[in-house]
Formats: sequence, C-alpha cells, structure tokens
Amino acid sequence: MTQSNTFSALESEVRSYSRAFPCTLQKAQGAEIWDIEGRRFLDFLAGAGSLNYGHNNPQLKQALLDYIESDAITHSLDLQTTAKETFLRTMNKLILEPRGLEYVMMFTGPTGTNAIEAAFKLARKATGRTTIVSFTNGFHGVTNGALAATGNQHHRQGAGIPLSGTFVIPYDGYMEGLDSVAYLEKLLSDPSGGLDKPAAIVVETVQGEGGLNAASFEWLKKLQKVANDNDIVFIVDDIQAGCGRTGTFFSFEPAGLNPDMVVLSKSLSGYGLPFALVMIKKDIDVWKPGEHNGTFRGNNHAFVTATAALEHYWKDDTFAQDVRAKGEHLGQRLQALQTRFPEEVVEVRGRGMMRGIRCADPDKAAKISAFCFQHGMIIERSGPHDEVVKCLMPLVTPTDQLDEGLDILEKACVAVFNG
Ligand SMILES: *Cc1c(COP(=O)(O)O)cnc(C)c1O
Repeated sequence: MTQSNTFSALESEVRSYSRAFPCTLQKAQGAEIWDIEGRRFLDFLAGAGSLNYGHNNPQLKQALLDYIESDAITHSLDLQTTAKETFLRTMNKLILEPRGLEYVMMFTGPTGTNAIEAAFKLARKATGRTTIVSFTNGFHGVTNGALAATGNQHHRQGAGIPLSGTFVIPYDGYMEGLDSVAYLEKLLSDPSGGLDKPAAIVVETVQGEGGLNAASFEWLKKLQKVANDNDIVFIVDDIQAGCGRTGTFFSFEPAGLNPDMVVLSKSLSGYGLPFALVMIKKDIDVWKPGEHNGTFRGNNHAFVTATAALEHYWKDDTFAQDVRAKGEHLGQRLQALQTRFPEEVVEVRGRGMMRGIRCADPDKAAKISAFCFQHGMIIERSGPHDEVVKCLMPLVTPTDQLDEGLDILEKACVAVFNG
C-alpha cells in the first residue's frame, strides 16, 4: 500500500482536513511543518486554533519531558495530583485574579464539545429550565447537546435524531439593520412571544467556524445585560477565540464582560494535548459529585504544559501586546487584498490573530486554499459556504514567517482572481 491509500483504505470516510491537504506530516516546530517527503509548510491552520504557542513549543516541551521523566502521574481520573494543583493555582493567580474574575474550575472530558455539554447541563440544572439560546453560524461542537446549538446544517444532519432544547437568534450583523439583542429582549418580555424562558445564552465573541464574524463589544455588553436582567446563565464559548487568540487572554476582555461560565479548550494545554475546562461562578456550581463524569477528566500532561504556557506567556502583557501588533499587521495586509480585489474580496473579517477574507465566490476560496497548499502553506476556510479564507497561524509565528505566509496568500489571490 502506498502512503496515501493506507488512509483511504483503512481510515473512515469521516476524515476531512486530510482530503484538502493530502500529505503525511512528520515533523513540526513553531509555525512550520514538514511532511515525509521533506516538503515544508507554514501552518496557518494551527490545529484549528489549538496551537497558539506553536508546534513543540520548547518551554512547554521541556516542562512535559521533565514531568514524564520524573515518573509523575499521567492518569488519575479526577484524583488530586501535583500537576492539577499547580495548574489551578497558576490559572487563578495569573489569569483570573488580575482580571477580577472569580470562578471554580470544572475539568470535563478532554474535548471542547464535552465541556459545552457540561456547561449546558449545569445551566439547565441550576435554573430548572431547558432552552439554550444560540446564534446563527454558531459552532459549539458535534455531540448532540452542543450540536443543537450549532448552526451548520452539514454538521447538524449527522445527528440522526431531532436536535432540541435550543432557540437560535441572529448573531450581531447577521441581517442589516436588525438588532437581535433588542429582538431577544422583546421576546422575553412578551408573554405571547413564544420563547420559553431560557436556561442560558451561549455565544462566541468571534465565530471561529461560522466565518470569523466578530460581534461588536456594544452588542456583547447588551447581550450580557439581557441575560443578567432575566436571570439567564450567560456562557461565553471561548474555545477558539480564547487563550490569547484575539490579543487578550479571554476574547471578551475588551468588551468588559463577566460571564457566568466560560468554556476553554483548544489552545488551553498549549501543546496540542486534549484538555477542556468550564469555569463557573460559584453560585451556579450545583453539581452533585460525579454527576458529569468521565475517565479522562483532567489530563495531567496537559495540566503541565498549560501551566508552563501561563508561566511563560501570561505573567505580564508583553506577549498579548505582541499578538495585538501582529493582529493589526495581519488586518492591514488582508485589507490591502480587499482594496486590490474589491469585487472578489468582499470583506475582511475577524479580530486579533483570527482574521480572514470573505470571497464573493466560495469556489475561489477553495482554489486559494489549494494554491497555498501547493506553494507551502496550510490554510483553511470557514463560514456557511466555506467562503472565508481563515488565517489562524500560531500566535508565536515570527514576523518574517507571518509575512512569508501572507505573501503566499497574496500570490494565491493574484493567481485565482486573475486566472
Ligand atoms: C472547536 C470548537 C468547539 C468544539 O471543540 P472540540 O474539541 O472539537 O469538541 C466548540 N466551540 C468552539 C467555538 C470551537 O471552535
């Protein structure tokens, strides 16, 4: 069997990214990956935002190697370990306290979607209500509870049973001139509005999979106020936009939010290790012991690398400032593409280092991604028609590699739009 047909013969049809990027990866460092043929790629996908600190980050790797070498605990269910204790303290001291946030932390099974399931279950249990308000183009994972709050039909139709318990309303900017927070407020205050009082509202501040729609801070603040005024649990899904991606640790910091629950995963371990966390305001933490359990709650190796990432990058604002500066630069270069191809690049979207270009023609977005792959860069698309070419490079990408990648993207635009 050749390398490529090993996968088509033995791996399920469900595989997806590997179809767009047919290569077998072997080695990676920072923002660079090499395949078995020695081809080098810049990684502008970065594990869909799971590799904010780059591949095999040296500081994180050393902390993990030291931990493993000392025969410390790898698996422990939810027993207390030194790795967990250090993580809890470090997260509290470096991230929560300086931001005036008070949460207890719940470690769920290691996927984002499991943490979302836990957040929804807890909101329902704490309020005695059912409905979760979600948004158009939202993405919260593919297990059935989270999937019910996810917009994308391609994903929804995989459920095979009716998805229920959610109520979808338009995200900020979904329809010109429509104020969806005012709409929600009206439904909640109208005894004949048809909306049962919700348990929770779940929102992404920037919709990662939904096409890099960035909500305005004003809209987010009003949304939180409606939740607070109506005693509805306000959940921010910061799985993709969090951990520094938008230029602050939490994506909601510049909007001044104080959510009732925050869900993190993807880049939380910092090393690409599976790890998910729900942060909960203490008065909502009404779980009975083990009520939402799981064998892999709290991955000790991930605790170690997550702690190392916090220690290395989040002791002061230097790293975040650097991300904001690179984010600005990224925005300017994408803006230049829109100026150059106004008919083709109809919008620059996103915030911080999660930005992209919306193409008028989804086929051309696909061709841009394919051209980039041929020229040494892995870059994905998102949005309802996969029409948004999405830059999600590691936050630690050196400026020269950032520009190298953006040069490839520019060449791709020239080739695809002029060809
Ligand atoms: C990726 C993602 C999830 C789901 O996380 P998984 O680990 O893939 O289950 C949920 N919400 C958002 C915003 C995501 O980007």
